[in-house]
Formats: sequence, structure tokens, C-alpha cells
Amino acid sequence: MTLPKLEMQTGPAKTTRGRVFSGARPTGRQHLGNYLGAIKNYVALQDEYQCVYSIVDLHALTTMELTKGLRENTFDMALDWLAAGIRPDENIIFIQSHVPQVTELHTILSMVTPLGKLTDLPTFKEKVRQQPHNVNYGLVGYPVLMAADILLYHADAVPVGDDQRQHLELTRDVAQRFNHLFGETFTIPEAMIPLSGGRVMGLDDPTVKMSKSETSSEYHAVYLLDPPDRARKKIMRAVTDSGRDISFSNDPERAGVNNLLEIYEALTGKSRSEIEAHFAAARGYGDLKSEVADVVIAALEPIQQRYREITGAQDYVDSVLAKGAERAGAIAQSTLDAVRDKMGFMKAYS
Ligand code: ATP
Ligand code: MG
Repeated sequence: MTLPKLEMQTGPAKTTRGRVFSGARPTGRQHLGNYLGAIKNYVALQDEYQCVYSIVDLHALTTMELTKGLRENTFDMALDWLAAGIRPDENIIFIQSHVPQVTELHTILSMVTPLGKLTDLPTFKEKVRQQPHNVNYGLVGYPVLMAADILLYHADAVPVGDDQRQHLELTRDVAQRFNHLFGETFTIPEAMIPLSGGRVMGLDDPTVKMSKSETSSEYHAVYLLDPPDRARKKIMRAVTDSGRDISFSNDPERAGVNNLLEIYEALTGKSRSEIEAHFAAARGYGDLKSEVADVVIAALEPIQQRYREITGAQDYVDSVLAKGAERAGAIAQSTLDAVRDKMGFMKAYS
């Protein structure tokens, strides 16, 4: 797999094996947005970087009042990632809460993070709007915990969807502030956001981001494990507009067609002009949807094939996660030791 077209916050990707870190919330099965925004890049980056991928179960709690399904979702995410092609021997796949050093670093970083920066974040304001009955302390601190995740592993680069852009900016700010106050400690990470597929919109409502936990409609998202006929049905029913023009556009009225074209772009790697020329002869949106369904189904096919091979292998997945936590734990402890030392904590009595 070749590296997708990525937007970097600074400079080009390192060619030596730097380290990549990314995480995802175990709040449900992975969808096409997760795939195009994150997982596809997780897989592609393995050849160039040492990759550390975390199932961030603590992060999931900020929007779950009850933890029903947490255990199953955590295990399923490991399955989905392995099915997508992440190679666990060279990389680290682990469960966030199995490496508890992150919670200590979170507390330390919270002391160098201005509260106003957190409460000003549009993502925080949006969550307050969505769950006014559950505006918990963890919701405000979410980006600080995310910064702790990334900085603990000295990540050079962080592949994420566009919705995480501001959280990455905050991570960089926090790291720079810490380094300034206590001396060079943290690597300043770069966001890697795909130029197409970085923000896949809901098929049922193209004005909102496709999401695992923020919809109740069965036509909102295509999941990695949707059988071909279900995936096709969802795409054929995608909300569009009443026009006929098949071209990329920023017009909110045409967000549905633009979303389908971006999915097609991300999966085929073709240029926008090539894609528009290709669809110029189409008879209407039905043709576009049908071709988008074809490329989506083709992309899901090998993932579903691998999923069938590993789905019963509970021991294998357990061993991947156990080994991952052990390797992640060693990196985390050495970072935390350095942080404690820089800050002047007294050494623990052994
Ligand atoms: P939730 O609704 O529970 O927050 P989610 O669908 O937003 O779930 P996350 O686990 O929060 O998924 O995010 C995992 C990764 O997928 C992140 O890198 C995020 O930026 C990316 N991502 C999530 N949704 C999309 C999307 N619609 N398009 C592109 N990337 C996405
Ligand atoms: Mg999310």
C-alpha cells in the first residue's frame, strides 16, 4: 500500500523510522470514516515508522454514562485493526488503560494547560450541546489525556481525521510549554491528516461527521464489516440534492454529492479533474452512487476476508494486546521517569 496524500503540520514525513502514535475510542464498530481518516493510514505508515496504536478506553468514558459494551467494543476494535492489516509484530497495539502511566502524565500536563484553551475548543462546546446532562470533568480534560497519550510515546507523527486537528495543535502547545518550563523533554508531534477522506460525512446527513456514537440511523455509516449488499444499500440511499451536477464543491447544499466524490477520491487515488471528467457522462446521481458502492465494497472485501480468519482466535488477539501493553509500558515508564526527574520530584524509595 502506498502512503496516502497527507497534509502535515510542518515539513515532510521522516524517512528514517520515526514513531507514529494514534488512538481510537472503543465506542462501536469501525466505519468508513474511521477507515479513510485513520486506519488506512495506520496500515500504510507501518512500512516507514514504528507505529503505536492505542485503543483508548479511558477516552471512551467521557461520553458513556454507563460502560455497557466497553469490554466487547475494546476487543472488537483490536479485531478490526488486525483485519485491516496492522502487523502486530513490528508495531504496538495495546489498550490505553493497560498502561496506566498515561493517567499520571495527564495529571502533570493538566498543570501546564490553560483551562480557557480547553473550554474554548469547538469540540468541547459541541459535546456540551450534545450531552448537557453529562458535562463531566473528563470531557474538558479529553485533549490533555490525548496529549499525554501522544507525548508519552514520543510520537513524531499522529495520523488522525480532520476532527482532531485542534486537539493536535493543543498537544503541540502543551509539549512546547512543558519543554520551555522544564527543559527539552517531549518530541513535538506533527498531525497527519489525509487530504481526501479526512472528514467523511454521514450518508443520512451530509452536514455532520460520520460517527460511531452520534447517530441512531442505520443509514448513517457503512461499517467495515457490512456485507456488500448492505453497504450498497446504504450508499444508494445516501442523501444528496435535487440537481444533477457531479463535481466537487464547498456548497453546503451539495455536501452529499461532494461527500460521495471524496470517498471515491480517497479510495481510487484519482485526481479531482479525472474524477469529474469520468462522471461527466453519468446519467445522474444513481450512477455516481453505484460506482462509489463498487469501490467501497472492493476496499472492504480483503478486510472482511481477514476478519473471518481471525475472528475466532481469541488467544491470538489476547497475546497481541498483552505483548503490546508490555512494550508500550516500557516506553511509557522511561518517559515518565524523565518527566519526574526534569520537574524535580523526589525519587521514589525502592
Ligand atoms: P465517536 O463518535 O465515538 O467519537 P468516531 O467515529 O468519532 O467515534 P473516534 O474513535 O473518535 O471515532 O476516532 C478514531 C479516528 O477516526 C480518529 O483519528 C478520527 O479523527 C477518525 N475519524 C472519526 N470519524 C471520522 C470521519 N467521519 N472521517 C474521517 N476520519 C474520522
Ligand atoms: Mg470521535
